[in-house]
Amino acid sequence: MRAPYFVLQVCLNGHLVKAHFRGELDELHQTTIRGLDQYCSRCGSKTIAHCPSCSREIRDESVEEILSAIPTPIQLPSFCVSCGTPYPWMQQKLDIISRLIDQAESDVQEAQELKELLPSIVHETPKTPQAIERFKRFLGSVTPPIRDAFVSKGLEMGFEFLLRYAGMK
Ligand SMILES: [Zn+2]
Ligand SMILES: [Zn+2]
Repeated sequence: MRAPYFVLQVCLNGHLVKAHFRGELDELHQTTIRGLDQYCSRCGSKTIAHCPSCSREIRDESVEEILSAIPTPIQLPSFCVSCGTPYPWMQQKLDIISRLIDQAESDVQEAQELKELLPSIVHETPKTPQAIERFKRFLGSVTPPIRDAFVSKGLEMGFEFLLRYAGMK
């Protein structure tokens, strides 16, 4: 038996529009989600149910949660498990932090390296410990107003780790 999962239909800004159940019961009447062209009722942007890079379905496969009597809220994935590309809603956040890095770091090479380490900061990779050290050092070296900008932008986007790296938690 194939484990059940949800195919998530998400707008480009990261609002979950619909979770389509896929499992035993659904086998006979599989709905086609591909080509489904709808817009988000909260922000009006286009919705997707597949990775824009590799076309894999955007899924929530936390089966235990699906089957549990007290379902936990669906977790939006940040990166495609098939090709590793950030989904558009995560890419937007990475872009905002990248712009702050460009403003704060005058050394182009240094700024580039920090930006390349960003995905390892929001998500566990072999480079994560190195990335964390780098960001701590970076945030320790910038002026307080710039550090505050990182922290407030970060909190707005749910990047609590920026607070820790700035030595404020
Ligand atoms: Zn939206
Ligand atoms: Zn992908």
